[in-house]
Amino acid sequence: MAKKEFKAESKKLLDMMINSIYTHKEIFLRELISNASDAIDKLYYKGLSENNTGLAREDFFIRLEADRDARTLTVTDNGIGMSMEELEENLGTIARSGSLDFKENNEAKEEIDIIGQFGVGFYSAFMVSDKVTVNTKPFGGDKGWSWVSEGADGYSIAETDKADHGTEIILHIKDNTDEENYDDYLNQYHISGLVTKYSDYISYPIKMEMDSSRLKEGTGIKGEDGNDIPAEYESYKELRTLNSMIPLWRKNKSEITEEEYNNYYKEKFFDWTDPAAVIHTKAEGVVSYDALMFIPEKAPFNYYTKEFERGLALYTNGVMIMDKCADLVPEYFSFVKGVVDSSDLSLNISREMLQHDRQLKLIEKNIEKKISAELTKMLKNDREKYEGVFREFGVQMKFGVYDNFGQNKDKLQDLILFYSSAEKKPVTLKEYVERMKPEQEKIYYACGENTELIDVLPQTEAVKSKGYEVLYMTDTIDEFAVKTIREYEGRSFVNICTDNLDMDSEEEKEEIKKVNEESKNVLEMIKEALGDNVTEVRFTNRLNNYPVCLTSEGELTIEMEKALNAMPTSEKVKAQVVLEINAGHSVAEKLKNMSGDKDKLERYAKILYAQARMIAGLSIENPAELSNMICELM
Ligand code: ADP
Ligand code: MG
Repeated sequence: MAKKEFKAESKKLLDMMINSIYTHKEIFLRELISNASDAIDKLYYKGLSENNTGLAREDFFIRLEADRDARTLTVTDNGIGMSMEELEENLGTIARSGSLDFKENNEAKEEIDIIGQFGVGFYSAFMVSDKVTVNTKPFGGDKGWSWVSEGADGYSIAETDKADHGTEIILHIKDNTDEENYDDYLNQYHISGLVTKYSDYISYPIKMEMDSSRLKEGTGIKGEDGNDIPAEYESYKELRTLNSMIPLWRKNKSEITEEEYNNYYKEKFFDWTDPAAVIHTKAEGVVSYDALMFIPEKAPFNYYTKEFERGLALYTNGVMIMDKCADLVPEYFSFVKGVVDSSDLSLNISREMLQHDRQLKLIEKNIEKKISAELTKMLKNDREKYEGVFREFGVQMKFGVYDNFGQNKDKLQDLILFYSSAEKKPVTLKEYVERMKPEQEKIYYACGENTELIDVLPQTEAVKSKGYEVLYMTDTIDEFAVKTIREYEGRSFVNICTDNLDMDSEEEKEEIKKVNEESKNVLEMIKEALGDNVTEVRFTNRLNNYPVCLTSEGELTIEMEKALNAMPTSEKVKAQVVLEINAGHSVAEKLKNMSGDKDKLERYAKILYAQARMIAGLSIENPAELSNMICELM
């Protein structure tokens, strides 16, 4: 039979189809299996709606067969098949979808889960094959047809003997090249892996003969003398079903055990530990979808690196479209893993991307609420577990408070925890505010390397001694987060190492003002000795036992200075630092009487400043000089 050319500018189109619309060659298998499943669906629905076909759902299957020697991979289905005209129409015209027509013309179109719609998937076979043969016979027809093509040149159709209805697609796989190991598509394990990856939830069994081995009959048993006879194995072919068919998320919650959820999670998301929580939801409305999500117990090793890719797997009609769709989860919940399955999405032609993101946005919004509700529930009902999750992912949530100019702070502020000086464990802002003393106006916090260091800060001791609770912030992001929150239930935050801490009574204020005025001279000399390091030196009466401390003035605290300067991009900043000297400490008396000895005062100033830095957990610029000065004094 004469060779025919593809219709509709087809050569160019086909070339494009084959080489540029898909990012991964391996999806050809997904496309062919999807077509097979569509063909079976059509016959199945025909049986339900028109006439009895004599076929039950269990009779249908898709079969894969790899032949290494012949270099062929065959995909067979016992679906509806194609007549000569249909072959011509569907495979001879690019971008013509017989499946879409079927769905449009069917009364029960709402219930039909047909996958095909663009009429291009089939040609993806040419990404991995240099020749494709399609043998098909329509259900109820008496003739079989064979369609053969080697790509853009065209195709030919001839009559063929085919016993059963359905379609058989034989791919002649290309030879290996430097870039691509086409042999993979002849390897049974690789093929089986692709089926699990993309087509696990196709609702008909996808079967393949696989090499297996078993104990040879009559071996591995005990001999008459009671000794073991060594076992002998033999290899044989076993017809296996590669797909699990029914997605766990489509089952009823009540039918799924905790173990099933956990096993699914560990298997699909490569984790050793059970998830901390499972979220399984079904939504119906503007967009309908099923979602099955997991909150891991432990952060993956690369979670806080650039390599980590967030996102949920996206399925439509049981076929995987994307394995990490980032648009489905907000960044602050990026640790959540799982799957979303919706048939309401408009896909682009390669079915690798989505056409509109309006539907996705809707789904993301709902999903975000579900995750937030689950975390809130855990915080309330299983505090210990929540603290564990927060230890792993809290930094991400706190970053979410700060990120995007605080746009999401309201959603997150009740989920974050800070270590409390009173409770000696992490607490929520709500719990802090509920415990506040009647006269307390602000939420006190302090920053440092770790809770032990913060606990012994002079300022912490001072605030604690007045009976107030202090939140200890040990992550770089913490102070940025509370500054973004600004006020929680009308209470503002104050870093107790800043001069905004207004805890003294009027008399106390007057008293210390007098002390400072009287020693103006000495204080100025100390300031001069310390140069740019401090913006002011003053006496204070809020330190109990410590001689000195550092306080910052203005918005930028010492901890923020450290964090900002550690970032590679931002400009270097400098906090305005005040050296505060304990007016009640014996060292204060000494300093006051030292105005006559400038040299000595200078050395004392440097030592005190260095001490204040050490107490705050900051580094000393010149430790050798400091050590010499101390020795001299000794
Ligand atoms: P789509 O699946 O998006 O419609 P394809 O290029 O994958 O586009 O397939 C084109 C058409 O060819 C299908 O719509 C269908 O009518 C027909 N077809 C493809 N594979 C089969 C098959 N295995 N059995 C019957 N018809 C098929
Ligand atoms: Mg298709």
